[in-house]
Amino acid sequence: MRIDLHSHSTASDGTDTPADLVRAAATAGLDVVALTDHDTTAGWDEAVAALPSRMTLVRGMEMSCTGRGEDGHPVAVHLLAYLFDPADPVFAAERERLRTERVGRIRAMAYRMAEDGLLPDPESVVEAAGPVAGRPHLARALVEAGVVPTVGAAFTDLLSPRGRYYVPKDDTALEDAVRMVTAAGGVTVLAHARARARGRLLALDHVEELVDHGLGGLEAEHPDHDAADVRLMRDMAANLGLFVTGSSDYHGANKDIGIGRFTTHPAALEELIARTSGVEVVVG
Ligand code: AMP
Ligand code: FE
Ligand code: FE
Ligand code: ZN
Repeated sequence: MRIDLHSHSTASDGTDTPADLVRAAATAGLDVVALTDHDTTAGWDEAVAALPSRMTLVRGMEMSCTGRGEDGHPVAVHLLAYLFDPADPVFAAERERLRTERVGRIRAMAYRMAEDGLLPDPESVVEAAGPVAGRPHLARALVEAGVVPTVGAAFTDLLSPRGRYYVPKDDTALEDAVRMVTAAGGVTVLAHARARARGRLLALDHVEELVDHGLGGLEAEHPDHDAADVRLMRDMAANLGLFVTGSSDYHGANKDIGIGRFTTHPAALEELIARTSGVEVVVG
């Protein structure tokens, strides 16, 4: 069984439609794929409708959160949430708030770039980005404007948290997010917690505190983790009684990683499912 529990479609900052994504998963030889767009469940129904036969879909999301950094200051953290009830009113309202934060923040960044002549028409970039606007949408616009050669190059400087165009957004406090997803019948997995290329890292003792709030698992194998990061996540998970996942974090053409590049052990998926009561997995 080949299982990839982290992927993004055009419902957030990937380039495959949800239908194309589940078909790409089948072509790559996967048996199970999770759709985990940032802060939205908007791609779920299309993915279900297009699910190839015998492919299992785990409906999920990647939530934008704030944790305590190793230096004690706030740090952006991503929390994967699976099989929660999308109608839970508290969680649905928080997702809506996060999307509003996203659009306002990308608009502010686009206008700053336009002031410096980098983007000719910032409003059209915001419009094209849609309701889950993210920095990859700005990156593609910068590539199209000929400012940078690749999406990746846009992140090294122009879109970096240390860069002059960066605007922060007000994300959900990590423990609140874990509690909210758990209350909605879902289970949480801390995403790429050691991805230092993205910026500062989450304090490891903050990870331990999340266990009391209901954290379910840690993502170990991930394109932004090296062998030592994977070992650390696996050791921590074993010590804290959490399950371990491995995933590609596929974003279509916005990243160089193919779907199924890293995978999750079937026993971990079983544990994940056993901890949920929101929605069920769907089998095509
Ligand atoms: P945002 O959600 O607006 O904070 O943007 C973060 C997103 O940018 C992540 O979810 C990734 O999809 C993408 N990203 C971050 N770093 C890079 C990078 N170096 N190259 C390509 N995409 C990146
Ligand atoms: Fe992303
Ligand atoms: Fe992420
Ligand atoms: Zn992701």
